[in-house]
Amino acid sequence: MQSVPPAPASAPQPPKYEFFKVIQNYLDDAAKLVQMPEYIRSILSQPKNEIIVHFPVRMDSGEYRVFKGYRIQHSNILGPYKGGMRYHESASLDDFKALAAMMTWKCSLMNLPFGGGKGGIKFSPHGVSRHELSRITRRFFHALGSNIGPDYDIAAPDVGTNAQTMAWALDTYMNSVGMVSKQSVMGVVTGKPVSSGGTYGREKATGQGLVHCILDWADRARFDVKGKKLIVQGFGNVGSNAAVLLSQLGVSLVAVGDHTGYLYNPEGFNAYRLKQYVEQNGSIAGYANGTKIEREQFFGTQADIFVPAALENQVGTAEAEALQVQLIAEGANGPCSPEGEEVLKRRGIEILPDVLCNAGGVTVSYYEWVQNRRSEQWTIQEVDQRLELAMHDAYDRMARFAKLHDCDYRRACYGVALQRITQVYTEREIFP
Ligand code: NAD
Repeated sequence: MQSVPPAPASAPQPPKYEFFKVIQNYLDDAAKLVQMPEYIRSILSQPKNEIIVHFPVRMDSGEYRVFKGYRIQHSNILGPYKGGMRYHESASLDDFKALAAMMTWKCSLMNLPFGGGKGGIKFSPHGVSRHELSRITRRFFHALGSNIGPDYDIAAPDVGTNAQTMAWALDTYMNSVGMVSKQSVMGVVTGKPVSSGGTYGREKATGQGLVHCILDWADRARFDVKGKKLIVQGFGNVGSNAAVLLSQLGVSLVAVGDHTGYLYNPEGFNAYRLKQYVEQNGSIAGYANGTKIEREQFFGTQADIFVPAALENQVGTAEAEALQVQLIAEGANGPCSPEGEEVLKRRGIEILPDVLCNAGGVTVSYYEWVQNRRSEQWTIQEVDQRLELAMHDAYDRMARFAKLHDCDYRRACYGVALQRITQVYTEREIFP
């Protein structure tokens, strides 16, 4: 009898990244800094509502597939829950809880009358047709029913969703509230196409806000952005708009990556053309003006600024050791792990934290919501001016807090955000 060779030992799995725990730890650190009463800290350490829906969708093949959708409502102490909808194959309840809490801090820091929420569906939008995507979105928003609303919980685009997704979501919601209420619910989602009730400036808003942050930092650091080099991970809404706006300031994009891989061009990509290519082809794959590189090489590229604009937990210790830049402007939410951040600090690489750096999106979403309520359409100039002032103001408040409390910018963002929430809880107290 032949002896069966022993099965190869399975490779040890890396420990699962607990994104929500990371965000809870930041909350705990900042709560100490602002001497937040324990009862408020414990309220904020969990979301108010965790909604999970399962819904069937007829696929183009005629088969039915059941999807799992989430909406996490973290806090509405400052206003309606507000936050994006993510479609991604690796999305999890833990991620949505973390992202929803971050929306609470972001809206508080930006002085917006919104709380925090986040949601989405665990699936890859790249693997379905446009018709399927429409039906999935419509069934998801229908399943959420009265758990969302323009004065209760307002959705927006995030990874894997865009203005078209929001148009389907709006249409579904409008058609489920009855004829007479139709026009009054436009604000149930933001990030809509301009022709369907969106605002000018929303598409580029997150990238634009990030550029304002970089310029504020550059002013203080006496750093001239002109002629500097940039690397960007994630070339969707946030990454591509940030790269185009930075290229208009003379910053050269030398390496870029997305879910399909990484490209390098020492002469600098034309960020605008690459953005157009991605809009037509869905990814950077096949773009002619760049050499394919590995993820490890991307992180080791010599540059000045890194914009992570893909997913959380992309910069661990290895990536942080490899990076050859002076500044990281966090377009993505939670791109640096706490361990990665320690390495970056030791190496003197500065971080502009997500809670501020990507808050331009929700800020302009707020402008969209106000315009919907007033049946107005502001000009791009008006939106741009307001956003610039809002970003500078928040940056100033963050920098002053950091100086006063001798803490890093991430804790300072949380600190400023928690001070506002503490004030409101202290005034209103807990019902009854
Ligand atoms: P998007 O779907 O438009 O783009 C996401 C990009 O990330 C794509 O280029 C995709 O290919 C890439 N990507 C996905 N998985 C990847 C992987 N494993 N490795 C490398 N690249 C990968 O999404 P977006 O709206 O630009 O969001 C990007 C980040 O910015 C997210 O963290 C999101 O939460 C954050 N954010 C977005 C907004 C907004 O207004 N859209 C606002 C604030 C924060």
